Amino acid sequence: MADLVIRNGLVVDGTGAPPVVGDVAVDGGRIVAVGPAGTVDARGDREIDAEGHVVAPGWVDVHTHYDGQATWDPQLTPSSWHGVTTTVFGNCSVGFAPVRPGTQDFLINLMEGVEDIPGSVLAEGIDFRWESFGGYLDALDETERVMDIGAQVPHAALRFYVMGERGADHAEAATTDEIAEMGRLTAQAIEAGALGFSTSRTTKHRARDGRFTPSLTAADAELLGIAEALATTRRGVLQCNSDFGDDHELDLLRRMAEVSGRPLSFSLIQVDSAPDRWRDLLAGVAAANEAGAALRVQVGSRPIGVIFGLEATLNPFMAHPTYAKVAGLPLAERVAELRRPEVRDALLTEEPGGGFGAFLARALGRTFELADPPDYEPAPSSSVAARAEAEGRTVWELLYDLLLADDGHALLYHPFENYSGGDLEPVAEMLRSPYAMAGLGDGGAHVGTICDASFPTSLLTHWVRDRTRGERLPLEFVVKRQCADTARALGFSDRGVLAPGLRADINVVDLDGLHLHKPQMLHDLPAGGKRLVQRVDGYRHTFVTGVETYADGEWTGATPGRLVRGAS
Ligand SMILES: [Zn+2]
Repeated sequence: MADLVIRNGLVVDGTGAPPVVGDVAVDGGRIVAVGPAGTVDARGDREIDAEGHVVAPGWVDVHTHYDGQATWDPQLTPSSWHGVTTTVFGNCSVGFAPVRPGTQDFLINLMEGVEDIPGSVLAEGIDFRWESFGGYLDALDETERVMDIGAQVPHAALRFYVMGERGADHAEAATTDEIAEMGRLTAQAIEAGALGFSTSRTTKHRARDGRFTPSLTAADAELLGIAEALATTRRGVLQCNSDFGDDHELDLLRRMAEVSGRPLSFSLIQVDSAPDRWRDLLAGVAAANEAGAALRVQVGSRPIGVIFGLEATLNPFMAHPTYAKVAGLPLAERVAELRRPEVRDALLTEEPGGGFGAFLARALGRTFELADPPDYEPAPSSSVAARAEAEGRTVWELLYDLLLADDGHALLYHPFENYSGGDLEPVAEMLRSPYAMAGLGDGGAHVGTICDASFPTSLLTHWVRDRTRGERLPLEFVVKRQCADTARALGFSDRGVLAPGLRADINVVDLDGLHLHKPQMLHDLPAGGKRLVQRVDGYRHTFVTGVETYADGEWTGATPGRLVRGAS
C-alpha cells in the first residue's frame, strides 16, 4: 500500500536522465518507488493518472528575498504558484537578523532600497521578536507554510550589528576584533541552522536613503575572516552578488571558497557595460574548480527585466510635468485624467525631465509590449522605438496608447540585463555551463519593478517548448538545473531528485497547457502595499513531502513546509 501513486506520467527525475513514461509511489512523505510504467503494483490511497503530464521534483529556488514575507505569508506567492517547494532567502547581503532592538529601521531601509520592498509593508508585516540569527530562525520555525524555507546570514545586517553606524558605511574598515566577532556570529548562526552567508559587492544595491550597501567594498580581510569562521563549522555556503569591476573580484571570491572549504555561488549576468565579461567569469570559475575550489554560478532563465506601467513604480511619463500633476490619483481617476484631450496633447509634446529622459532614450529601443503570455525573447524590431518609427509616429504617441490600454493596467517590459545583443543566446550558454544552476528569480523582491519569480516556469515554457529564436534545451536538462543542481549546491541531499528514500516534493505539470500569464499588480501586502505577481496555468499538482499544496493553481490549505536547518 502507498499513500499516493502517480501513474503513467513522463517522469523527469531531476538527475538529467532522459524522461521515462512511468510511475512514482509515495508513502509517509517519502518516495518509495520510481520506474517505468507498471513498476508500482500496489494501489495508492490516492491515485493520479498523469498521462501526458510531466512528473518532476519540486523546484528548489535558491535565490529569493522572502526574508520578511516568510514571517507573515504562509503561501509565499508567487513562487508557490510556480512549483517551488523549497526556497532559500537571505541572499545578496540583505535580511533581518541579527538586529539590535531599536535598529530595525536600518534593515528595513536597506531592504526597501536594495530589493524594492516598501518600508511600510516591512514595518507593518514583520514582528521583530528576535535579536540573534538563531532567534530569527526560531521565529520562522513557528510559522506554518506551504513550502520548505532556508535562510542565510546577510553580511549587511551582520556588519551593522557588530560595527554599529560605522558598519553602515561600506568605506569603513572593520577592526580585527570586529572581523573576529562577525566570524563568531556567522559560525554561531550556522550552528543554529543558517544555510550560509551572503554578501553584496554591487553598486546596484543601495539603501532607500541612497547609501551604498554596507558590504560593497568590505576588505579582503573581513570577507576572508568570515570565510575562515565558516571553515570551522564545516557547513554552509557562501553567496555573492558583484559587479566584477576588476580581476581582483573573482580572485577574492575564489579565495573565500578556498579559505572556507565551502561552495560559493554568485549571480552570473550579462551587463551592457561589458557584454562579454560573463565569458571571462565562466573561464575563471572553470579554472577555480579545476584547482579544487567549489565556485558555482546562478543563472537566470530570461533577461532581468524592469516592468513599466501606470500601476508600476516606473512609467515612461513619470518625469513629464503634466503627469506629475495626476501621479497621486488612484488608477481609474488617473486614467480618466490622462484620457482628456488637453492632457494627452501636453504629454505628447513635453519632454521628460532630468536623467530620466536620457535613460528612456536608451531604454525605449529595448522596451516591449507585454502580452499574455509574455514573450521573453522579443525581437529588437518589436521594441516600442522600432514600432513607432515603422508606424511613422512619435514614440510618445505609441507609449500613450500602449499604457492606457486595458484601463491602464497594461505593462511594458524593459530587459536591462542578459539582453545586450537582443536575444538569449548568452543565457543558453550560461545555463549549459557545468557550474551553473538556475537562480536569480528574486522572489519576494522588486515588487513594483521586476516580476521574475516565474523563472522556473520559463525554463519549461520558453526553453523547452516555445523558443523560436534559437535552439531549445532538453526537458531533463532544465529540470536538473532547477532541482538536483540547486539542491546539491545548497547541500540538500534529501530533495531535488525523484528517487526512493527522498522527500516526496513533486510537480505534475501539463507542459502542453502550461500558460504563463502576464504580470499583474495586486494590492495585498501588509499596510495595503502593492506587488507585481504572475499567475500560471498548467501546474496540475504540487506536493511537499507527499502532501498536496496546490491543485490547478489553487492552494489546498495544507502547510507541510518547514524551516530547513542546515546543521540538523
Ligand atoms: Zn538577490
